[in-house]
Amino acid sequence: DHSVKEYARLMKRINAHSLHAVSNILSLNEAEQLIRKLPRPIAETAKLIEENIQLAKEHKQKVLDNPQIALEGIPQNNAIIKTLKHPRTVCVGENCCRVIEVNGEKQMEYLHICHDECYLAGVVQETLYDLKLQDCTAMEPEEGFCTVCDCHWLQHKHITYEYVTDRIHIRSNKDMTLADIDRRITDLRNEESKIQDIYRKLVRFLHVNAILPVNDDFIEYLQYFIREEQMKQSAGAQNTEIIDSLERLKDDYNKEMGLYKKTLEEQKNSINTSQSVKPDEIFILVETLYELPITGKQIKQQVDGIRIGQTRSNAQRETFVELPTKAASSKVMLELKEIISTQS
Ligand SMILES: [Zn+2]
Ligand SMILES: [Zn+2]
Ligand SMILES: [Zn+2]
Ligand SMILES: [Zn+2]
Repeated sequence: DHSVKEYARLMKRINAHSLHAVSNILSLNEAEQLIRKLPRPIAETAKLIEENIQLAKEHKQKVLDNPQIALEGIPQNNAIIKTLKHPRTVCVGENCCRVIEVNGEKQMEYLHICHDECYLAGVVQETLYDLKLQDCTAMEPEEGFCTVCDCHWLQHKHITYEYVTDRIHIRSNKDMTLADIDRRITDLRNEESKIQDIYRKLVRFLHVNAILPVNDDFIEYLQYFIREEQMKQSAGAQNTEIIDSLERLKDDYNKEMGLYKKTLEEQKNSINTSQSVKPDEIFILVETLYELPITGKQIKQQVDGIRIGQTRSNAQRETFVELPTKAASSKVMLELKEIISTQS
C-alpha cells in the first residue's frame, strides 16, 4: 500500500533525524558537564607549575654557587589528590587560615571544616562563592554568617577533594647539568601554555553552547591563590615571581576572554557554528590534557575526584535523573522505534 510506505519512509526520516538530534544534545550536555569540572584542576595546575619553575630556578642558583648540589636533583612539588569521603564546606576566610612552616616552606593551613558532610542540593562542586552555600546548614539563615567559624557564607567553598603537595627530586643517570635545569623550566612553561591553549578553547565552546550561565571560576581560583601567596609573602616567603606569574596569567586570560565575549555579542545572531569546536572534539581535547607528560595525570585525578564526589552527592539526594538514558528511552522515541521496526 502506497500511503503506508510513504508514512513509513517519513517516520524513518524523522526517527533517524531525532535520534541524531537527541544524541547531539546529549553529547553537548556531557561536554558541558566535563568542562565545568575543569576550573579548579586547571588553576591548581597553573599554581603547581609556577611553584616548580620557581623551585627549579632557586636550585639553579644554588648549583651555580655550589656545583655539588647538582647531585641532589631538581626539587619539585608533586601533587597528591585526596578524594574526600563526603563533599565538604570549608572556610577560606582570612581569619580562618594561617601560614605555617613545613620543611622550611610556607604553607597555608585552614582551621575550620564548617560542614563535613555537606550534601547541598544544586551546589556546583569546587566553586568558590557559590550562592547555594547560603543554604548550608552551617549558615545562620538570617544574616548568612557561619555558626562554626563566624565568617560570612561568601568566605566558604564546597570541595570534594584536597590538593596537597610533597617534595620530590628529579634525577637522571648521568650528572644533572645546568642545561638540564633549563630544560625542565622550558618543559614546564611549554606545558602551561599548552594547558592554557586547550582550556581557552574549551571555555569558548562553553560560551557558545552552554545551557547554564558561565562563571569564570578559573579567575576566582587564581585570585584566591594569589591571596594565599600574598599571605605567605607577608610571613616571609620569597614568592614574588609566583605572584607576578599568576597575576599575569589572570590578566591575560581576562583580556582574551573579554575580547571573545565581545565578539560573540557582536555576532549574536550570526555565529558561524562551523568554526567552533564540536562536542566530540571536547572529549579529545580533555584527553590531550590528561596525557600531558608532567601534569596530565594529576589533572585527570582531580577531574575523577570531582566526578566521584558528584556521583555520591547525586546518590545521596535521590532526586537525580540520569538524562541520557531517560531521553533515549522516552515514550516518543520508543514509539518511533516501534513504528519503524514494524513498517520497514
Ligand atoms: Zn575561625
Ligand atoms: Zn552544608
Ligand atoms: Zn564557616
Ligand atoms: Zn571562617
